[in-house]
Amino acid sequence: MADVKNFDSDCLFCKILKGDIPSTKVYEDELCYAFRDIAPQAPTHILVIPKEHIASAAELSAAENAALAAHILAVLPRIAAAEGLTGGWRIVSNVGPDAGQTVPHLHFHILGGQRLSDRMA
Ligand code: AMP
Repeated sequence: MADVKNFDSDCLFCKILKGDIPSTKVYEDELCYAFRDIAPQAPTHILVIPKEHIASAAELSAAENAALAAHILAVLPRIAAAEGLTGGWRIVSNVGPDAGQTVPHLHFHILGGQRLSDRMA
């Protein structure tokens, strides 16, 4: 499927990008890919990932990743609009064990389709 910069053969989301593990695609462009979470925590639960292996938001650098980060942030509302999330939605990006990050490839959760919890933690 996609060319993956800094491909990590041990990374689940790199394998999804390569098409080695199936996923339900929602959106794709030259820099990022979006697919449905396999264990949704809201009626709409989408993951948006860069086509580059970056372990988490902690690894983003202004010098190297500014354009990619800005691009993904601009794509998120387009996906939310395409999904019809007119009542609002939430972006989550877990970083590290305290946040419960389970896949070490930068990803943004888009959650919506219902009134979301007032608590974020
Ligand atoms: P996090 O816990 O923030 O690292 O998020 C990882 C997310 O990946 C979880 O919400 C999982 O349900 C989701 N996930 C794990 N494996 C798959 C898969 N094969 N396809 C789609 N989503 C997955």
